[in-house]
Amino acid sequence: MDLSGIVISRGSAKDIFCYCISARSNRLDTENPVIIALVFSENYMNIEDELYQSVVGFIESRYPIGWGGAAAVRTESGKILISVAPETKNDALALCMEVGALLEAHKLNEAVTHSICVCREDEHSELMILSPCGVCQERLVHWGGKVKAAVSSAENTLVFKTIRELMPYHWSIVNGEQL
Ligand SMILES: [Zn+2]
Repeated sequence: MDLSGIVISRGSAKDIFCYCISARSNRLDTENPVIIALVFSENYMNIEDELYQSVVGFIESRYPIGWGGAAAVRTESGKILISVAPETKNDALALCMEVGALLEAHKLNEAVTHSICVCREDEHSELMILSPCGVCQERLVHWGGKVKAAVSSAENTLVFKTIRELMPYHWSIVNGEQL
């Protein structure tokens, strides 16, 4: 069978190309297509890119002018939950941008698989990826060492590390649990 395939349809959601070929001949049979493979195009976004694009898109709409920042977490079912830090008159009341999304995941009773936090000084500034602070890393520990968080780097590129990598000497070892 000729597996070279012919594109006959294109999914709108993520440009999923369906390569179909007739089972009876090497010619395209649009009446009785047999899907032999689903191939993600170059436009397909992986989870990490999708999470980044989601939080950046949100920042641009929520904070079109001036400072902007938000966090996004992805849950095991694929939900993307976005939250912001509360605006407070007393700095002591501040909370990390991630907290709202993490609480939402708890409310939904869904495990978090990925987390990202992004901010910029103003609408003309570069978007900066922020590693989760120590407290938020500890919050992510709830879902295990495999949870991945975007981390800051000198190049400011999109890099995810597992919580296990971020916390190699986690205290849970004294309880006999390897993070
Ligand atoms: Zn934090």
